[in-house]
Formats: sequence, structure tokens, C-alpha cells
Amino acid sequence: MVHNRYDELEAPLRNGTLFIADCDGGVDARYKGNADLVITTNRDIEADLLFELQALERVALDVLAAHGPNPRSVQRMGAAALELASRLAVSLGLLQTTAITLGLPTRVIDAGSGGRRRFRLADVAGIDARLAGGVAPSVAELASEVGPLVGWTPAQKARIVGSARGVGQTRCTEHRTQHCLICLRRTQCNGHHLVDAISIVLSARHGARIGSVELNRALRVAADRSQLGSWGVVRRARAWEAGSGMKVIA
Ligand SMILES: [Zn+2]
Repeated sequence: MVHNRYDELEAPLRNGTLFIADCDGGVDARYKGNADLVITTNRDIEADLLFELQALERVALDVLAAHGPNPRSVQRMGAAALELASRLAVSLGLLQTTAITLGLPTRVIDAGSGGRRRFRLADVAGIDARLAGGVAPSVAELASEVGPLVGWTPAQKARIVGSARGVGQTRCTEHRTQHCLICLRRTQCNGHHLVDAISIVLSARHGARIGSVELNRALRVAADRSQLGSWGVVRRARAWEAGSGMKVIA
């Protein structure tokens, strides 16, 4: 969407407009290196808040404070929760992007509104109980839950799982490892899935209840302002400010 708007405006008309877009797992090379188009480091702003600004560490201290013996162990619980949630969000993200790439359905009927929307973690039956053991369900297990809801045939499900596994098994160029959580979460973690996953993990593993909406709000408030300067989005927005003489960051 942002990219379409960016394309619609010719360069002279873009003067004075700064575009900020979610990376969404990959951006066409022609959008890179433009001073007036800032792209998130991770898939989207929510994922950037969690990974680049250490927002969860602060929220975890608050949410988990009553569930651990001391601040150090609470911090460790928070870090472990983020890792488990990341693995879960990576698997769900992989499943969704692979289905989209293969042109297969990803929409379910929302029980609340009756409208159609992309599948999410809440659609996976018994996800709380599965996470209580500290292990994220595999892509294949998630596909078995989601498949009947979106209408994949067994053959389609097998194609999606095979293809998604292939992405996970591909050796990353930066760390030269398979199943690299650092790289996969950058390309596959959708921030909304991640916030949902953290909310479920905190509840299932630690009995700390905070809904996704409330958690999302808390993460935005908690993003460490002292680290804003090293966040790629802010760094590039500041470079644009210096070039344009305009101000967008408070
Ligand atoms: Zn890597």
C-alpha cells in the first residue's frame, strides 16, 4: 500500500513527504536506498519495537514481576518467553507467507465479526496447553490445525508444509546456519502474530494474563527511548530530516 502511494508520486511531488513502510519479509530492490522511503528492519513496526528497542524486557518486568523470585529471574523468564513466542510466530508466519506465495487460501471466518480474515494463533485449537510445555508446535502441526479452517486439501497442505520447511532449512548467508532464529524472525515474524504469541506464552507458561491489545499498547509505551537513536527507522528518518530541513521525530 505504502509502496503504491510512493510509486504514484513522482520524485518532485514527493518533496516534503517521508514514507515509512513495513518490510513484510522482503522489499523490491528499487525501493532500497531512497532517502524518503524508510523500511522497517524486521517485518513491521511491532516486530521492530520488540527486537530493536527491547520493549519486551521492560513489559516483562511489569507483567511477570509477581511471578518470579527476583528481577534477574523475571528478566530470564521474559527472554525465554520472547524466544518461544518468536519460534511460534516464525512457524505461523512461514505457513502464511508460503500459502500466499503458492496462491492458496489463508482466510478463515472470524467467530466474533462473521467477516473473513487471515488465520492467526487464536485459531489454533489448544495452543495454550501446547505451549505450557515450553515447546512451540511445528509448521506441520500448525498446518494440521489451520488447514481444515481455510480449506486446504491434504495435497495442498503437504505442498505448503514442504515448501515452508525448505525455507527454514535454507542456510542463512549471515550466520551460515539452518533454522536461524535471528534471520527467520527478521523475515517471517509478523509483529501481530508475535504480540499474540507473547500474550499466550505469558499466560500458558507463567499464568500472567495480558491480552494482545493491552500488550501491544504496553510495548509501544515501553520501547526504550534511549535506544531510539540506534533504531534503523529513526536513524534513516533523522537523515531525511537533515536533508529536507523538516522535522518528523519529536
Ligand atoms: Zn542467520
